Parts: sequence; structure tokens; C-alpha cells
Amino acid sequence: MKAAEIRKRFLEYFQRNGHTIVDSAPLIPKDDPTLMFTNAGMVQFKKLFLGQEKRDYIRATTSQKCLRVGGKHNDLENVGRTARHHTFFEMLGNFSFGDYFKEDAIKFCWEFLTEELKLDKDRLYITIYKDDDEAGELWQKVAGVPAERIYRLGEKDNFWSMGDTGPCGPCSEVHYDQGEEVGCGPDCGIGKCDCDRYLEIWNLVFMQYDQAEDGTRTDLPRPSIDTGMGLERIAAVCQGVASNYETDLFQSIIQYTAEMAGVKYRENEEIDTALQVIADHSRAIAFLIPDQVLPSNEGRGYILRRLIRRAYRFGKLMGLEGSFLWKTANKVVEDMGDHYAELKETRDFMIEVVKGEEEGFAKTLDKGLEMLEEELAELTKAGAKVVPGETTFKLYDTYGFPIDIVRDIAEKQGIDVDEPAFDALMKEQKERSKAAWKGSGEKDVASLFQTLLEQDVTSEFSGYEGMIDQSTIT
Ligand code: ATP
Ligand code: MG
Ligand code: MG
Ligand code: MG
Repeated sequence: MKAAEIRKRFLEYFQRNGHTIVDSAPLIPKDDPTLMFTNAGMVQFKKLFLGQEKRDYIRATTSQKCLRVGGKHNDLENVGRTARHHTFFEMLGNFSFGDYFKEDAIKFCWEFLTEELKLDKDRLYITIYKDDDEAGELWQKVAGVPAERIYRLGEKDNFWSMGDTGPCGPCSEVHYDQGEEVGCGPDCGIGKCDCDRYLEIWNLVFMQYDQAEDGTRTDLPRPSIDTGMGLERIAAVCQGVASNYETDLFQSIIQYTAEMAGVKYRENEEIDTALQVIADHSRAIAFLIPDQVLPSNEGRGYILRRLIRRAYRFGKLMGLEGSFLWKTANKVVEDMGDHYAELKETRDFMIEVVKGEEEGFAKTLDKGLEMLEEELAELTKAGAKVVPGETTFKLYDTYGFPIDIVRDIAEKQGIDVDEPAFDALMKEQKERSKAAWKGSGEKDVASLFQTLLEQDVTSEFSGYEGMIDQSTIT
């Protein structure tokens, strides 16, 4: 079953069960300065959970665009390392705003997985929050899951919050056993290791509390439900493959890139990592730009810049010549533009932005690499094991060289990067530029973006920088 079909079936299943299908919100959360990017389906419904807003529905279902780079949920480092983490992904979700609670959430989830998708029950495992006896009983009663397949875990795994503040609650998750061959050995198990064998597919959050900045939790007006299932993961399960990258969602871009580079997927580990990183980042890039993020030197724009530059370098390692990312990002538009119309609407603009950024970076990449290699050679000669913050900062400041690239290269030579020192220097610089900036609010970014879009002006983005107050973004 293709991923698009799973997405459709999910939304229709919940629609049949009284949920309103709501469009994905943009990747930039509206009116929420506590969050850099939308990182879960519940973000657009935060005020409904808090009882601060009412709409004409109390049940909703979505396929939400998510980005987990920076902030509480940061998966950038996991990309390429695991077969299940991406920067950009789609989260399928069903929501109850003070309507049904645990019992129906469990019932819907189980019915969708075992009857709609016909997953093998013997491969499914459940985790619950350690004190949540009620959830443990309901899984047995409503879904018939035997007690020995229900695991109790602590806060880290089974208490969900979007960030440091906001609606949160204990959760219960469904895991799919991908088989011993995927496992990491004798210590493999749910809550014990971090390998891909017991794949976490679906998280049911029993929204009960609102967490304040000082960590105290007060009850929400009414207990609610927020669930999230990664489309890429459930697609891997339905398509019988152990890696998200083997699903149709990624194979199309991977095969396209491999062909362009004259390489084959699954023949060489380094090439596979490069192909996966490019596919992952191309999706993030193709979705970020239509949602009004443009490359810049800080905040959200800097994340986009890092993704473009990182993917670009992986492409160079693989032998790709000239600019190519705009092509892989365009492939994303072709593959996903039917469901996400904004991709098609801004396609030409997106291509120009990416191409411009690639061309700009190409000029400085070689110089930066040369300087880094020299520094690493000196560090090795001196027996040092850490790249100092000043070096990483200089590379960033002079050559626009993102820290991820320094890390990728240094780690290969057994040298660590002093990230706290780099962060401190970045912070100093940010404060300097903030002091110099006396600008207006976020609204201006939207109008500037619109102007750029209309005029097709893509070469000069400096006006964008500093337009968002970055100080509150996590
Ligand atoms: P993991 O433990 O695997 O990192 P998580 O517990 O951080 O996942 P949740 O916050 O519970 O994830 O998000 C709900 C669902 O979204 C997950 O069960 C998973 O299916 C999906 N998901 C989470 N992070 C990612 C990611 N980086 N890439 C793809 N899918 C993801
Ligand atoms: Mg995670
Ligand atoms: Mg988890
Ligand atoms: Mg989870």
C-alpha cells in the first residue's frame, strides 16, 4: 500500500468516526513564539486543549507537516543514523477536545491498525506510563492485548509534552516488532535499546495537564486526546520494509538522485548515507520555503541554510556536480504536490531560492574545507582531540560553514567538536546583532515573503534577517 493511500485511509477512517478532517498547519507555528517549528499534530490545536478557543468541531483528524530540528524534539543527528528518524515527516493524528478519552482513543487506534491496515497482532506491543493502571486495563479490555505485551515506562518515553510549557500528559505507545534480524543483539528490547527492531509507530497522548514555565502542572479544563503516528514509519510497516528509506516516500527521490550521480543505492554504506541525507533534507527544504522560511544567518532561516548546505556537501561527496538540490527538491514537489498544494504554488520560487543558495555556497565550500583540513591536521599533530569553539565559529563566520559539516568531517578523524564553546560564541554574536536591530514583528516577514514571491526576487535576502525576534524561540 502506497503512503498516499495510507494517509487517505487514515483520514477517512477517522472522518467516518465523527472527526473533521483539518488541513495541516504550516511548519511555522502561528502566534507561538515558544516553538521554532511545528513538531507535532497537536501544535495547531494548542488553544483548544487549553480551552482558550472553541471551534465547531470537538473531534479532528490531520496529516500534519512536522519538522524536528532544534528545540526539545531535535532529530537532525538521528537522520541517517537510524532508519526511522527524519527532519521533516508527516504525522497522522486524531484529536478529541474534551470529548472522548482513553477508552475510545485505544479502540480507534487498535481498530485502525488491525482491521483497516490488517497488521499482525502478534507483532504489536504496547507501552504505558508507569502509573497509568487505567490505560493498562483498557488495552486488555478494549483491544485484547495480553498483559505480558504491555510495558510500563517512565517520563522520558511515556509522558509527552510539546516543549517546556503547554498541554501535556501521560501517553501510551504502539510498537511494531520488525523481527530479530533488525535487532541489536541480546540486550534488545522495548525501553532498553535504541535500535529499530521494536519500532514506535503510534503515540496516544492522554492530555490532562497544562505545564507552566516553572514546571508545575495544572489540570486542563477537560481531559483530551492527541495522537500521532509517523506516516513514514507506518508506510514501512505496511510495505514490509525495515527502513523508512525503502518506502515509496523516499525511494522515488533516492533513485532519482542515485541516477543523477551515477551510483546505486544499497551497495556502499557511505553512499547510502549521502542518498538518505539528501532525500531527507530535500523534503524539509521543499516544504520549508513555501511556508515562508528563507535562508538566513539566524533562527529558522539558519536551520534551512544548514539543511541546504549539509545536503549539498553530501552530494559533492558522492560526486554530484553543479547545483542539484533544486532538482531533488523539485522531485519532492512532483511527488507530494497533489496533497500539499502550496508546494506547487511556490515551486518556481522555491527552485530559485535553493539554486541561489547552492551557488553561493559552492564558492566558499572549497575554501572552508581547505581551512578545516589544515586545522584538523594541526590538531592531530598536537595530539588534540577536540576542535575548539573559535575554529568552528571562524569557519561559520567567514565561510558560512555550518557546524554539522565540521562535525561530520572531524568525527571521521576521531576528533570531537566543542559545541558549547561554539554556541557561546554564536550567542554573543546574536546579542550583538540584536542590539543593533530595532525592527518590527513577525507580520513583516509574511509581507516581505509575498513581495519576493511576486517579484521573483531571490538574490537578496539580507533584509529578512533579524525580522523575527529570535530571542524567545527554542
Ligand atoms: P522516537 O522515540 O522514535 O524518537 P518520539 O517518541 O520522539 O519517537 P513522538 O513525539 O511520540 O515521537 O511522535 C509521535 C510519532 O511521530 C512517533 O510515534 C513516530 O511514529 C513519529 N515520529 C517522531 N519523530 C519522528 C521523526 N524524527 N521522523 C519520523 N517520524 C517520527
Ligand atoms: Mg524522538
Ligand atoms: Mg519515543
Ligand atoms: Mg513517542
